[in-house]
Amino acid sequence: MRIDRVRIVRIPLQLVAPLRTSAGDHASRTATLVEVTADDGTVGWGENVAPEGSFYTGETAEVSYRHLRDVVIPALAFDRDDMDDDDLDEEDRALAAMPMAAHAFTSALADIEARQRGVSLAKALGGAPGNVRVGVVVGLHDDIDSTVAECAARAAEGYTRVKIKIAPGNDVDVVREVRAALPAGVELHVDANGAYDPSEPGRLSFLDGFGVGLLEQPFAPAEMRAHAALARMISTPVCLDESVPDFAAAIEAISTGACSVVNVKPSRVGGFHAAVAIMTLCAENGIGAWVGGMLESGIGRAGCLALATHPACTHTPDLSASDRYFLRDVTAPFVLTDGCITVPRGPGLGVAPDPELIGDAATSIETVFGR
Ligand code: MG
Repeated sequence: MRIDRVRIVRIPLQLVAPLRTSAGDHASRTATLVEVTADDGTVGWGENVAPEGSFYTGETAEVSYRHLRDVVIPALAFDRDDMDDDDLDEEDRALAAMPMAAHAFTSALADIEARQRGVSLAKALGGAPGNVRVGVVVGLHDDIDSTVAECAARAAEGYTRVKIKIAPGNDVDVVREVRAALPAGVELHVDANGAYDPSEPGRLSFLDGFGVGLLEQPFAPAEMRAHAALARMISTPVCLDESVPDFAAAIEAISTGACSVVNVKPSRVGGFHAAVAIMTLCAENGIGAWVGGMLESGIGRAGCLALATHPACTHTPDLSASDRYFLRDVTAPFVLTDGCITVPRGPGLGVAPDPELIGDAATSIETVFGR
């Protein structure tokens, strides 16, 4: 494949409800998309989903965007049929530094390759298009009643798996109340984003009493041994997210018994290739796997949904419908029907940004390579 043009397209999106981060409440989010045009005219799309703040892995939206524009794209061999070892080394270095920027570009290439072959991205990644049962994440509210009310509303919309955020001092009561309010058939997962002290693992044993399906990332990312000790102590499955930035970390997590489930986000691990490798490793070792979400627009969402059809995915993904997040998505909206979203059957991602939004005055388009 030879690449003729690369553009970075930034589209402001209005959120349905303000997004609360450590930096405050945000009413909007900018979708940072990568459009790659091959020499045969095939166009592929990727998305850089790095968040506004540094609360997740430290790869923030602005830093990741600059790395994509100034390092990743210039490092690429634009004639990909004629890459030598030096080209590969340079590309590997550029991609390794920031996984979200790497995924933004390499997922656009994966979209092009699947479109050129006339197959869906789901099929290209080892799965098959169809309906995927999806879950929803409910953020922390100021009070328990509001959290409970939102969880109940999401279940009424048809979501059959709800994940809430927990933190020390904001856990036992909220888990009890949410579990009591949710219908019995709705799974409850909890995510601590590393908020707990690994020297006090016993304070998480309360979860076993509430039938919680999964506890995600209780301790800081580097705390593999503490996660392993906790996994031995409680019957609630321990799932790792931030602790698994790459394949090597997945091997360590599995070999030390630190988890029985892994949340695999292609943007966190640097692309679809690494994500499939980690999910396959999990399957080979009897470890569960599922695809997490990062507030993607329809472009990133379509890729994550395609990945979520892989047979190694054992748990419900965090990939909610477009109306959970955005007043208007960049693609045709993904809709929840009977708790499921339909993965596009068309070639590649099966979706593309709405041309009207691309032409909108609020959209910024930067040609980084080509004309
Ligand atoms: Mg998480």
